[in-house]
Amino acid sequence: MIDSARLNLPEFARGSVWLVGAGPGDPGLLSALALHALDRADCVVYDALVDSRILELARAGALREYAGKRGGRPSPRQPDISARLIGLAREGRRVLRLKGGDPCVFGRGGEEALALAEARVPFRIVPGITAGIGGLAYAGIPVTHRDTNQAVVFLTGHEESGGLPQSVDWAAIARAAPVIVMFMAVKHLPAIAAKLMAAGRDPDDRLAVVSEASLPDQAVVETILGKAGDLGQLPTPAIVVLGPVNRYREVLNWYVGDLRGVVLG
Ligand code: SAH
Repeated sequence: MIDSARLNLPEFARGSVWLVGAGPGDPGLLSALALHALDRADCVVYDALVDSRILELARAGALREYAGKRGGRPSPRQPDISARLIGLAREGRRVLRLKGGDPCVFGRGGEEALALAEARVPFRIVPGITAGIGGLAYAGIPVTHRDTNQAVVFLTGHEESGGLPQSVDWAAIARAAPVIVMFMAVKHLPAIAAKLMAAGRDPDDRLAVVSEASLPDQAVVETILGKAGDLGQLPTPAIVVLGPVNRYREVLNWYVGDLRGVVLG
């Protein structure tokens, strides 16, 4: 599939775990290391946001195991997932832990890596393209631009309990950077917008919601912070971006028409 020698790709050793980012959805955004891992893995333990076209790239005989939320049922507990990865590795398998976007961006890659390190299971982290950067690029929104922002904030809009994140200093976040990229923020968007405005953020700040970024059904809604509470139901997964970089989409919106749905090949 890929020339691993020319790319100098490492061997996927038996008994090891690779924590791999699959990117936001478009299979073309997989890294060479991710493809190599799909080609070699004995089992693939995957999350909800991994596109089925990507799973199909796994070796024909590979075991595929789902470890995410489905149909509103509670997700497997994190310690159980880590224990499963350790167990599979100790059976001598090449274990591919596949996650949407980048494994270490609100993806618990760090937690799983810590569990593997503690269990002395050899592992590798393969970064992926996060929806918070690549997903915006597919909407024609550069995450930074010299004329608009020297900093970016990545924020999660959701914590384990299901509510708004409690430990967030909203006043500091509101002032920290011209651009705030929000993951898992659709459900609580009206509350988040209210917190940011109460902390002094301009209601006229541009805001965009990019749903199903890089996928054929990608949809983008543009508004302003002051009207973010009126958006109603939005398709998910969705990334929310607040700030002046949204204005570039007017000119840079390239992912339209025939460019959609182009896959690896
Ligand atoms: N590790 C992932 C993020 C996991 S948290 C990454 O780096 O992208 C899950 C959140 O990611 C979703 O709620 C959504 O906010 C965002 N997300 C993931 N894939 C997406 C996609 N294709 N389009 C829009 N948002 C996406």
